[in-house]
Amino acid sequence: ISRSLSEVDRAKIARPPAENEDTLFGKIARKEIPANIVYEDDKVLAFRDISPAAPTHILLIPKVRDSLTRLNQIQEKHKDILGHMMWAAAEIARNEKLEEGWRLVINDGPLACQSIYHLHFHIIGGRQLGWPPG
Ligand code: IMP
Repeated sequence: ISRSLSEVDRAKIARPPAENEDTLFGKIARKEIPANIVYEDDKVLAFRDISPAAPTHILLIPKVRDSLTRLNQIQEKHKDILGHMMWAAAEIARNEKLEEGWRLVINDGPLACQSIYHLHFHIIGGRQLGWPPG
């Protein structure tokens, strides 16, 4: 199997944290550390990825993690916030003028290279994207 070793190694050491264990995105959501914020409402926050994979690369998170560590862990109680996140992602893509095409990505778990266990959507666009992803 051909893999990007650096990404796989990074993902291997990232494991879901305990429920009360904070993450970097928790600190960003509470404004304890700065981020380049592009969208905010009472439920979600979106900010530019520090290491962009495309001209537009935005991360969208629920402000309160509430056991939303990864998509695999979602529960029925999360249906409203997940629907709101889908709506917000489309709103952000419209704001960024990505109507020619963009991608919504969720890396779920170690084999998908999830590195931060506070659920986040990647909004990626601004160039021709390849398929399939690595
Ligand atoms: P994941 O690999 O799907 O978990 O995505 C985590 C993303 O967070 C990566 O694309 C990182 O570049 C990004 N990231 C890590 N630290 C920061 C930060 O401090 N600000 C903004 N983005 C970050």
